[in-house]
Amino acid sequence: MTSFYQSTRDDQLHVSAKQAIVTGFAADQGLFVLPNLGEQPFPLEQLAKMDYQTIAQAVLERLLPDFSTVEIKAAIAAAYDHSFSDPKITPLRSVGDFQVLELFHGPTAAFKDVGLQLLPQLMQRAVAPDQQVMVLAATSGDTGTAALNGFRNQAQMGVSIFYPDGGVSPVQQRQMLTTNGNNTRVAAIEGNFDNAQRNVKRIFNDAKVHEQLATGTRLSSANSINIGRLIPQVVYYFSAYQQLLEQGKIALGEQVNFTVPTGNFGDVLAGFYAKQLGLPIKKLVIACNQNNVVADFWQTGIYNRNRPFYQTLAPSMDIQVSSNLERLLYYESDGDTQLVRRLMNDLDQQGQYQVPSELLANLQRDFASGFTSDEEIEITIRQVFVDEHYLMDPHTATGYHVMRQYQQQDPETPMILLSTASPYKFVDAVADAVLGHHAESAQATTQQLADYTNVPVPPALQKLWDLPVVQAPRLQPDEMAQWVVRETNEVFKHD
Ligand SMILES: *Cc1c(COP(=O)(O)O)cnc(C)c1O
Repeated sequence: MTSFYQSTRDDQLHVSAKQAIVTGFAADQGLFVLPNLGEQPFPLEQLAKMDYQTIAQAVLERLLPDFSTVEIKAAIAAAYDHSFSDPKITPLRSVGDFQVLELFHGPTAAFKDVGLQLLPQLMQRAVAPDQQVMVLAATSGDTGTAALNGFRNQAQMGVSIFYPDGGVSPVQQRQMLTTNGNNTRVAAIEGNFDNAQRNVKRIFNDAKVHEQLATGTRLSSANSINIGRLIPQVVYYFSAYQQLLEQGKIALGEQVNFTVPTGNFGDVLAGFYAKQLGLPIKKLVIACNQNNVVADFWQTGIYNRNRPFYQTLAPSMDIQVSSNLERLLYYESDGDTQLVRRLMNDLDQQGQYQVPSELLANLQRDFASGFTSDEEIEITIRQVFVDEHYLMDPHTATGYHVMRQYQQQDPETPMILLSTASPYKFVDAVADAVLGHHAESAQATTQQLADYTNVPVPPALQKLWDLPVVQAPRLQPDEMAQWVVRETNEVFKHD
């Protein structure tokens, strides 16, 4: 079996899974991929009897070849045994004629917890004893909070988060500014998420930054470009299928569809990995918001980021460059690293690329896509609450709307909608949709919405308003590199 990772842009650039997790992405700016994903399939015949942790063990053993069984088991236990409020970790609920996989029962109430509770545990088992790792992440909201929570006070590690100033919800901002550990840092960046993400990537490749860091200190990434964040997400696709089996809704081997609210393309890509490992998935349906560059790409084969950027009601999906798509291009072109390199170069130079027709055909075989406007998000949240008494967040609502469109074409195949956040994380938008208004403070709105709907507020969001708040500096993008150097050396000065 292939036991190494390689770059999406160079099949000669090989690293172990541990190196891939510690470094985040490849030196040639490509992303790390495991060639031949399907070589060692998941033992599907045992799935019905497996719990979340056992499924995770089987998935990680296949995708992280140089971690020992013992290391994987310990990492999974540390990540999931206590921090999720539901014993199923990602419970599947029946709502009307469809299923919702709720991914928001972790410590920060969004699906990013699934990856970011496990990533630090994996990284800790991969880093050398004399090394320290500062993890950097650009965030459109949820990654920041979840990364701060996952890495907080972990030995040998620190975390620095950059969020677009004014581009995150009040609850998300509050969460970031109240998660303080001795190794956590947060800064607001002028510009949108893509600016922040581009600058974080630049810092990783900035030789001057590396020279100024203390000996033994390195930088890594907590964005879903890190395979240690992506792989944990593969697990819940299997868990969803296991729960459908358990509920007697499908027979083993029967095909299902998933609809996935999509931004940086990590979540839906994890579904593709599950399919490669043998999970019977017919289609993965990609749901975008008004920033519909990915949906357009699936129609035309042209990825063009030269277009207006919208701040929508689903801010965690306000993205124009979906980084993880690069991995899919690699797999769907049969590992053509030269092609991937050329396409990514085109994107960098011209802001667009066009894929060959055979590649587009492969993409369209495995995925469908659609998008949802803000107006449709609001209508959806209200309608589903009125009809089903189920309260969705705006990201989940984009998924719901696209799911219904897609089901006109295939009403028969069981459909699972991924719910990516608690409605209380985006409480203003949800209250506007359901109550017709929101209060001045997010805290008051939360109370009003809970009173009206009787949907419980997740524990993490309930206590948010009593915690002390830190101040985040506001940085220009060109100030980020120096800030990282200073804060990183400060975090590790006692190590
Ligand atoms: C991050 C996020 C998304 C998008 O997921 P990607 O993996 O970036 O595609 C969707 N919804 C919510 C609530 C998120 O936090």
